Amino acid sequence: MRILITGGSRGIGRACVELFAKQNHDVVFFYCKNAFTADEICKQYANVSAVQCDVSSPDEVRAAVAECIEKLGGIDVLINNAGIRRDGLMVFMEDNDWADVMRTNLDSFFYLTKLVVNPMIRARRGRIVNITSISGVTGLPGQVNYSSAKAALIGATKALSKELAARKITVNAVAPGFIATDMTAELDESELKKTIPMGRFGQPEEVAALVSFLVSEQAAYITGQTINIAGGLG
Ligand code: NAP
Repeated sequence: MRILITGGSRGIGRACVELFAKQNHDVVFFYCKNAFTADEICKQYANVSAVQCDVSSPDEVRAAVAECIEKLGGIDVLINNAGIRRDGLMVFMEDNDWADVMRTNLDSFFYLTKLVVNPMIRARRGRIVNITSISGVTGLPGQVNYSSAKAALIGATKALSKELAARKITVNAVAPGFIATDMTAELDESELKKTIPMGRFGQPEEVAALVSFLVSEQAAYITGQTINIAGGLG
């Protein structure tokens, strides 16, 4: 399969890139700032290439998707993974903390998916996986911006899945809990672990395995769903 993953340079996105590369798929990933890491990944896998793209910019997305299609010859699978958080109680939240989180986590879904879905409709096949969060399922204090963006992504997943089901294109969301990546690196893991029924953070590779199942042929009848992967949270 020809796979495009956003935010493939680190964390969950990187684990997806590496799993798909080992499964012999052709992969293009977008990164934003980490050119060095992106380059390292590409050197490791002949079937992987990287394109720099800030997914919050519609112009950059347009150019990067065109480059990706040129490299792959088409896109069968889109993983909307790139994301950021800017936590803080809402009373103290700056306008930028709201806008940046909405643009990167939610608007990017619209810019990317709109471009990629047209050829999928013509081909009558395709897989879209949106990486949301347990924060969008339950709401978390200090994350009004992030919970809003991730909840909206779940709504978008449900609505788009119904638009595309007849074309044999599935659209699903994956909602991780606490996963050990740079995004959670400065959190107090020993305290937070106590709130997780399984008593541990998840690994990016565990999320990648779920994403890999959702884009497989075996998952052809699953669409419009949000699957939590959170060690019992949510
Ligand atoms: P991470 O380790 O911080 O990595 C974030 C990735 O997104 C990086 O590859 C980064 O690229 C890319 N990125 C950030 N802003 C971007 C932009 N404007 N344009 C393009 N790429 C951008 O994060 P993660 O933990 O793997 O999270 C991946 C996804 O899972 C996110 O959507 C996050 O919200 C979601 N999630 C994570 C957790 C968790 O506990 N870790 C839980 C629930 C949901 P650069 O390396 O170039 O900066």
